[in-house]
Amino acid sequence: MAEAALIQPDLEFKRDILGLGAHDLTSCYQCGTCSVVCPLSTDDMPFPRKEMIWVQWGLKDRLLADPAVWVCHQCNLCNAYCPRDAKPADVMAALRDYTITHYAVPKFMGKGVSEAKYLPFLFALPAVVFLVVLAWIGNLTSLPTGQIVFSKFMHIIYIETIFILAVGAAVVAAIAGGVRYWKGMNEFSLAARHGGPARGFISTLIDILKHRKFQQCEGDRVGTRTSYKSHLHKSHLAVFYGFLGLVVTTTSVGIGIYAFGYLTPWPLWHPVKILGNVSGVAVLIACGVFLYRRLNDKEKGAKSTYSDWLFLGVLALTTLTGFLSEILRLADIPPLAYWVYFIHLVFIFFLLVYIPYSKFAHLAYRFVAMLYSSSTTSSRS
Ligand code: SF4
Ligand code: SF4
Repeated sequence: MAEAALIQPDLEFKRDILGLGAHDLTSCYQCGTCSVVCPLSTDDMPFPRKEMIWVQWGLKDRLLADPAVWVCHQCNLCNAYCPRDAKPADVMAALRDYTITHYAVPKFMGKGVSEAKYLPFLFALPAVVFLVVLAWIGNLTSLPTGQIVFSKFMHIIYIETIFILAVGAAVVAAIAGGVRYWKGMNEFSLAARHGGPARGFISTLIDILKHRKFQQCEGDRVGTRTSYKSHLHKSHLAVFYGFLGLVVTTTSVGIGIYAFGYLTPWPLWHPVKILGNVSGVAVLIACGVFLYRRLNDKEKGAKSTYSDWLFLGVLALTTLTGFLSEILRLADIPPLAYWVYFIHLVFIFFLLVYIPYSKFAHLAYRFVAMLYSSSTTSSRS
């Protein structure tokens, strides 16, 4: 005999998803075209048709435990083919934003980063911390004299201490969010799973490093309609490896200073400096492409939300202020160079410390979802 299922709709959840950029849900008539054209949808894990009806029914628990929400790579092909213009890709994006806030640890941080009214407080926190440090070491009222050296303005020991503590807390929070998501999938997901997180770990990591899903979105598309996201594979590669290059650069500088006493500023021809500059240019170019496409395709492509603009804006401004402080240092303009560097530090703090709560959290949630889906074999949806 078939098992009876009790459906408990959460209407507030449905309103929240609409508020996060989902289109008119009632226009979807469940034709299934979106799942057919989606290059990442499989027989084992079909989407996004079922997510459309689940949102209409307000099935919050089921959607929060749905790995497909994160396996979707936002290629927008489903939007291009939906006969009712129901924009399923926008619904998937809204669900991802909702997931980040829902699983955030601590909860108030998820809410804080998701709402524009809290933005001044989020920037004020690092600004005040760095201003207190400057006042403590006496550089708030009188800037260092002589050659511009940023470590004379904001001593490395303070920067390292602040960032190690704050970024460490962010990593713990991101892991806690990922674990909550994994548990949620275990509890509510309809997919039958075989094996724990260790299964598929390496292959998921390789998939991400190679951007295989993005490649699939490009290579396995059906028909001739454009999704306005054909740039996604290359732009994401540039921003991903550019960001990774900047992380390697910063870590190498720390190791150089502490392990070898090799003090900054390092010459422009130094390999680490070259890596940093090339990586920064890659991130800036990718941000420029994302910005251009979002502004030009806003009617035909996917809707851009607050979280999209915040992520893109902070990433671009972090890189821009980094370049600007370097240029001002080389041009020997002390007051401007030092204060632009100060702004750069505030942006770095924002970018890294709020990772678990911003769109950047896709690093963790997408990895967890892909890992989970790699160990599932069938679905009863
Ligand atoms: S979202 Fe569009 S394509 Fe998908 S089932 Fe609904 S109407 Fe069909
Ligand atoms: S945006 Fe692309 S990957 Fe996501 S559901 Fe639509 S077609 Fe599939």
